[in-house]
Amino acid sequence: MRVMKLPIYLDNHATTRVDPRVAEAMFPYFVEHYGNPASKQHEFGWTAEAAVETARSQVASLIGADKGEIIFTSGATESINLALKGVAETLGTTKNHLITARTEHKAVLDTCKRLEQYDFQVTYLPVDRDGTLAPDDVEAALNERTALVSLMLANNEIGTIAPVEEIGAICRHRGVIFHTDAAQAVGKILVDVDALQVDLLSMSAHKMFGPKGIGALYIRSQRPWLELMPQIDGGGHEKGLRSGTLNVPAIVGFGKASEIAHKELEGEGERVARLRDMLVEGIMAELDGVHLNGHPTKRLPNNANLTFDGVNADRLMMDMKDIAVSSGSACSSESPEPSHVLQAIGLSVDAVLSSLRFGLGRFTTAEEIAYAVTRVVQTVKAIREKSSRYYVMNS
Ligand SMILES: *Cc1c(COP(=O)(O)O)cnc(C)c1O
Repeated sequence: MRVMKLPIYLDNHATTRVDPRVAEAMFPYFVEHYGNPASKQHEFGWTAEAAVETARSQVASLIGADKGEIIFTSGATESINLALKGVAETLGTTKNHLITARTEHKAVLDTCKRLEQYDFQVTYLPVDRDGTLAPDDVEAALNERTALVSLMLANNEIGTIAPVEEIGAICRHRGVIFHTDAAQAVGKILVDVDALQVDLLSMSAHKMFGPKGIGALYIRSQRPWLELMPQIDGGGHEKGLRSGTLNVPAIVGFGKASEIAHKELEGEGERVARLRDMLVEGIMAELDGVHLNGHPTKRLPNNANLTFDGVNADRLMMDMKDIAVSSGSACSSESPEPSHVLQAIGLSVDAVLSSLRFGLGRFTTAEEIAYAVTRVVQTVKAIREKSSRYYVMNS
């Protein structure tokens, strides 16, 4: 029998393990097919270019796009910067208003803050207790100066899936460009750019069992007025929108990861959701004072964000180092501060600091979940017992 390896990785929103099939596909592009796809005059260049174009098709078909609509970047952060700043710079003279939400990833929020320094006005829409944004609020916030609406498809902390189709329809109707940060959604749930009616979509390979440092921006082609100002100038790669020699092995890996996700997404989603339910139900059956954050049903199959009343989440993590999760104090950034997402859904700072995010993935097993349930229950009980003893002693 295979022995379960510790620690157990349940932090798949932060990053994922590279699927061994992906790593295997990448390897020849380091040591054998190492040409530069921009070298048009020899076999090395042609081989690399063909591999990049295959990957472009694989990424495109995962989201229902054409391969000509995919621009490779270094990841979702760069894609988001290109989308937001790229639109702001082309439309900025006449339109200087953006709409986004309070629960967005820092890649969006910090880019918006930067644009505010350049006289852009940004509306940060609120969300409800489940983390859901009302399409009517988007409609109401639109004005004649609105250049772009940017709203995430699935939240990286609480897993809530946004009503993006409805918002897409509103934006389309009003002639406003619509960008979605789909870094957590692509490869986990079905994503189709036409069904969602998005014009721009950001994605990242390392959130879907591909390598780090590679991502893409989808740019709808039937929008002649949708022009982006490049943010990186140089040799004119990627239609001049993102110069710099292409990271061929990473692109090949991203393509392979997309192909695998396309084939396996449905079955995997169901399996992972079952494990997630096992985790949540297992913990709640043994412990009182545990709350699930985010939408009860419209959520990513791999996400569970739980608040444990009276338990400091950082302490909880320290006491169960064999389970890799992340806490409400540091979910989304390098700098630990109480999660803006959990605060936006109405949690008190105390509740935020008592919250843990569990992120399951392709390689999560039922055995690992059973172990995690036992450890969480045990550790929470121990912490609560100590603090109540402390309470009795001091009262
Ligand atoms: C991870 C993530 C990003 C940033 O992606 P990188 O590829 O790491 O730059 C942006 N948005 C969301 C929702 C994410 O989860």
